[in-house]
Amino acid sequence: MLYRQHCVTNCVIGATLELSSFYAHWGGWEMRLTFAGAFLLATFWLSPDLDLHHSSPSRNWLIFRKLWWPYSKIFRHRGWSHFPVLGSLTRLSYLCTLLVGLMLCKDVFAGEISLSHLVHSGHESLQALLSVVSQHPELAWTAFFAVIVSDLAHAVGDFLWPGKLF
Ligand SMILES: [Zn+2]
Repeated sequence: MLYRQHCVTNCVIGATLELSSFYAHWGGWEMRLTFAGAFLLATFWLSPDLDLHHSSPSRNWLIFRKLWWPYSKIFRHRGWSHFPVLGSLTRLSYLCTLLVGLMLCKDVFAGEISLSHLVHSGHESLQALLSVVSQHPELAWTAFFAVIVSDLAHAVGDFLWPGKLF
């Protein structure tokens, strides 16, 4: 399936779910906004096709595209990265690792390069990320659900129209 077709399909599914939740009075505006944001983020920047380094979702990262190069080397195209839920978890875990790594970079640039300090700092960064999630668990679950639905829509598109890759 072409990248543009994936985007259109996902946006139609996302908009349908948003409108359904609005008319059915599911959740508040925070949940709907979180779902929409996470769904769009997953569709355009966390697509399963990040397992291809030259794919359109990879190019959406612009100068940060190289950050996803290891991911494309770890995961074969349309392998585990496209598996429902598990594929979403691989990209979210990879993104968390990138964020913790970027937080560690500030320590390295500040001259704090001892291993014990980096381990301690990495642990603190991870706790900071988890505390943000634990303060708003319903929004975190909504965002996670949105990423899974976006990835499922992608996987179904690849399954139904397996031809062109990107
Ligand atoms: Zn795909």
